[in-house]
Parts: sequence; structure tokens; C-alpha cells
Amino acid sequence: MALRKIATIGHPVLRQVARTLPAAEIAREETQALIDDMIETMRDANGAGIAANQVYAPVQICVICVENNPRYPYKPNFPLTVLVNPTVEVLTIDTFRNFEGCLSVPNLRGEVERFTHVRVRALDRNGAPLDFEVKGLTAGTFQHELDHLGGKLFVDRVSDTTTLCTWSEFERHFQADFVERARALVAKFGQ
Ligand code: ZN
Repeated sequence: MALRKIATIGHPVLRQVARTLPAAEIAREETQALIDDMIETMRDANGAGIAANQVYAPVQICVICVENNPRYPYKPNFPLTVLVNPTVEVLTIDTFRNFEGCLSVPNLRGEVERFTHVRVRALDRNGAPLDFEVKGLTAGTFQHELDHLGGKLFVDRVSDTTTLCTWSEFERHFQADFVERARALVAKFGQ
């Protein structure tokens, strides 16, 4: 396993729509190595998730894992999940305002509208089908990662640009209010 370099905003790979992986390609050694490296790179950077185009590989793979994350301490834990060729189906019209950050957008946060309940369908790293629903903050994390595979970044979805802030200004001016809302979401959805 190895750490991979993370692409930052402005690099065209982040704007590419990632390529769908044919089933035969999932088992390949290079694909499995990419998945291992993505997990290691995400953990090293304290990310809640990472998409393959963030490590310069524009294929439809993302990984998500939240384990007492110091970067997002209010996020509920979610077990390591590898998604290949994922799709998301929105199951509600209800949204919430999520304060997002991104490993590819250093030192910037901003508020993004996300759906509170989505269904995720994908293949796992062995090619077996996955089909599950996620809610609340966790649903926000999945929508963020799937956006990457479509060439979208959270900043594209920030409608109120007055919420854009550095991480230190987030802590000073936005964190208390957002953490209160985040706690209410976790209490409501358990996720
Ligand atoms: Zn991101």
C-alpha cells in the first residue's frame, strides 16, 4: 500500500466524469491496489471519504469511512465502505444545510444543501452488489463523494457564498451553530 498524491481544485482530473469500471476490471491487481491506496490516503488525511479522481484515477470508485474523525468530530461513525460504479437515488424532498470541506479544496469550508435520505446502489470491491439507504449527515457524505465521480466539487453547490470560510474562521464563526444542527440531525436520523 502507498499514499497517493491528492489532486487539488483547479486540476482538470477533478472535473472529469469518472469512467465506469467493467466487472472484469474490478478484480485486477491494479484496481485492488488503487482501492487499498485510496483507503490509506483517506485515513492519513483524516478524510471521511475519497473518490478515485481525487488521486488522479478517474474511475467510478469511492471509499467512505468515519471512525471518530478528528476533522469532522460531529460526524457519526460509519464503517469502511468501498463503492464501485455507485448510483444514488434521492428518497425525499427534505434537505439540510451541511457545512462541507474537502481534501481537494484545502482550507475552505462552505454550506451545501443535501438530501436527508438517499438509496445507494453499487458494487463492492469483489464485484458483489450493494444496496442500502443512508440518512442525515451520513447521506451528505455519500452525496459529496458521488459528486466527485461526476466531476463536481462542493463549492459548485454553495449557494450562499457568505458561508465560505477557512477552517479557522469556521471554528470561530460557524462551528457552534452548525454543530448544534448536526447534533439534531444525528438525534433524528441516528446517522
Ligand atoms: Zn471531497
